[in-house]
Amino acid sequence: MANTPILITGGAGFIGANFVYHCVQTYGDRPMVVLDALTYAGHRATLAPLEKLPNFRFVEGDIGDRPLVDQLLKEEQIETIAHFAAESHVDRSILGPGAFVQTNVVGTFTLLESFRQHWQSRGQPAQFRFLHVSTDEVYGSLAPDEPGFSETTPYAPNSPYSASKAGSDHLVRAYFHTYGLPTLITNCSNNYGPYQFPEKLIPLMVLNILRGEKLPVYGDGQNVRDWLYVQDHCRALDLVLTKALPGQTYNIGGNNEVKNIELVELLCDLMDELAPNLPVKPARKLISYVTDRPGHDRRYAIDASKIKRELGWEPEVTVEQGLRQTVQWYLDNEAWWRPLLG
Ligand code: NAD
Repeated sequence: MANTPILITGGAGFIGANFVYHCVQTYGDRPMVVLDALTYAGHRATLAPLEKLPNFRFVEGDIGDRPLVDQLLKEEQIETIAHFAAESHVDRSILGPGAFVQTNVVGTFTLLESFRQHWQSRGQPAQFRFLHVSTDEVYGSLAPDEPGFSETTPYAPNSPYSASKAGSDHLVRAYFHTYGLPTLITNCSNNYGPYQFPEKLIPLMVLNILRGEKLPVYGDGQNVRDWLYVQDHCRALDLVLTKALPGQTYNIGGNNEVKNIELVELLCDLMDELAPNLPVKPARKLISYVTDRPGHDRRYAIDASKIKRELGWEPEVTVEQGLRQTVQWYLDNEAWWRPLLG
């Protein structure tokens, strides 16, 4: 299964691109097709170094385009789908939820239907896999003393984003139970690392510090998130694809719970240390509290004991190591992020 043709949706986005690079490094000549609509969050330039490889193909297109998906699955003899394509930013889902329902729910449904028919037309081979990459936000919010979300925590999404991801998770689950389609679901915490679009918390703060701009922190800054280094996440996804039984769900977390304000302070201190000639120093002077986001979940935390127990996965990168590597990556890769600032 590890070297069979794989379709990676959303591969020009943050986690998808890191997963594409993980596959190139791990599997070398595995046939890989990326399908990505290149929304504001997708950047073909991220994958440009791969486009000369004979086993790599980039296709610009929508996961909701059924004829295109049907044609790709058949033409490329796809056996595995790693599905990352989504509208992924909570603030955008509050302003315009329609695109979230369209891509995350209807798009995922289109992919599932196409893959089901492709799988059935091939005689339902056991090695086919559909991996759906989802979020811990489907579980809602935790009180400070509650245990982390496990795979049996009831769904309670609070934003249009998490509600649309919850809807897609349920469809993926139903395709396993109804049709026997070999699907897998992962729900992970906040990712960070290279190639993350600058609207998300960590790159936003790093680039604002570089330009001497304010660092907006929602509410009282006490909201807690678990931070997962994207390369740890990609290793986990690879294990789930190669080792897990169809129909399973795994929660993936970094075991790094940090309050938002503490994370921002850590980033300020790292930038003071690593970035030359900052316009405002110490960078903590830029911190500015802003009105809280509506429906802002207080705390997310993950109980990742199932994936540890069954697949032997554990995060390897601590938040201190991962943040240092990430800050350094943004400092070294201005050519990547500068054109995205608009
Ligand atoms: P991203 O926003 O960086 O990338 C999404 C990619 O999907 C982009 O390249 C975009 O062009 C593409 N896309 C959007 N709509 C499309 C469509 N209709 N057809 C084809 N391509 C389309 O997102 P990300 O942060 O890389 O997240 C990837 C997946 O992981 C998402 O499903 C997200 O819900 C999930 N997730 C992300 C995080 C996180 O911290 N980033 C945490 C938990 C789960």
